Amino acid sequence: MTGILIVTGGSRGIGAATARLAAQRGWDVVVNYKGNASAAKTVAGEVESEGRRAVAIQGDMALESDVIRLFLEAEKALGKVTGVVNNAGITGTGSLLADTDLATIKSVIDLNVTGALVVAREAVRHMAKSRGGRGGGIVNLSSVAARIGGSGELIPYAASKGAIETLTLGLAKEVAAEGIRVNAVSPGLIETDIHDTTGDPNRLARLVKGVPMGRTGTAAEVAEAILWLLSPASSYVTGTSIQIGGGRL
Ligand code: NAP
Repeated sequence: MTGILIVTGGSRGIGAATARLAAQRGWDVVVNYKGNASAAKTVAGEVESEGRRAVAIQGDMALESDVIRLFLEAEKALGKVTGVVNNAGITGTGSLLADTDLATIKSVIDLNVTGALVVAREAVRHMAKSRGGRGGGIVNLSSVAARIGGSGELIPYAASKGAIETLTLGLAKEVAAEGIRVNAVSPGLIETDIHDTTGDPNRLARLVKGVPMGRTGTAAEVAEAILWLLSPASSYVTGTSIQIGGGRL
C-alpha cells in the first residue's frame, strides 16, 4: 500500500533519504523537521520533483502538543495518513555514564522514548480501522546500539533504542487486528550528521574498524529497508527489527 507517509525528522540524514525513496515508490510525504526549515523544504521539493505531493511541517517530536498538531496538519494538507516513519532521534553528547549529566539523559529519553511513544500512539489513533483509519505501517528507528549497549560513550542513547525494540514488539501485537503493521530498522554506523553531535569528530572512523563489512552504511541503504517494511512485499511481517549494520551486531 502506498498513500500518505509522515517522516519525523525528515529534513536530514536517514529521514531525508526515506522521504526521497518513498516519493520514488509512490508515496506522498510529510517532511517533519525541528529547526532546519530550508533543509525540509529542499526535501519536500525533491519529493514533488518525483511527481508526488509533499508538505514540510515544523514540530518538536519531544512535545506532545507538536506531535498531535503534526498529524492534524498532515491530514489537512494531504489526507488520511497510512504510513509513519518514527525517525526523529538524538544521541546526546557522548561520555561515560558516570560523567553524564541529567539534562543529557532527559533530552535523549524525552525525544527517543517519550516522543517516539507519542508518535506511535498518534499513528495508531489516525490509522486504526476501528477509529476510522485505513490501516497502514509504522517503522520505528532503533539502532544496533540497542544490542551493543553504547558502552564508553552513549549508554542513554543505547537504552533509548532498547525501548524502541520493546515498543515495536508490543505495539505490533496490539494493533495487528487494526490493519497496522509495526516494525523497526536497526541501523549500525550510517553516514549522517548525527555523529558530530556526540562530540567525537572521529567517531565513524574509530568505530568502522569493528564493522565486518569494513565500511559505514548510507542513509539510502537504510531507506530501502524502511520502504520494504512499508510495502505490500512485507505483508506478513510485523514486530520485527531488521539489523542494517554491515555485520556489526
Ligand atoms: P540526523 O542526520 O542527525 O538527522 C536528524 C533529523 O531529526 C533531522 O531531520 C532533525 O531535524 C530531526 N530532529 C532532531 N530533533 C528533533 C525533534 N526534537 N523533533 C523533530 N525532529 C527532530 O540523524 P540520523 O542519523 O538520520 O538519525 C535518524 C534516526 O536514525 C535517529 O532515530 C537515530 O537514532 C537513528 N539511527 C541513526 C544511526 C546513524 O548511524 N546515523 C544509527 C542507528 C540509528 P532538523 O534538520 O530540523 O534539525
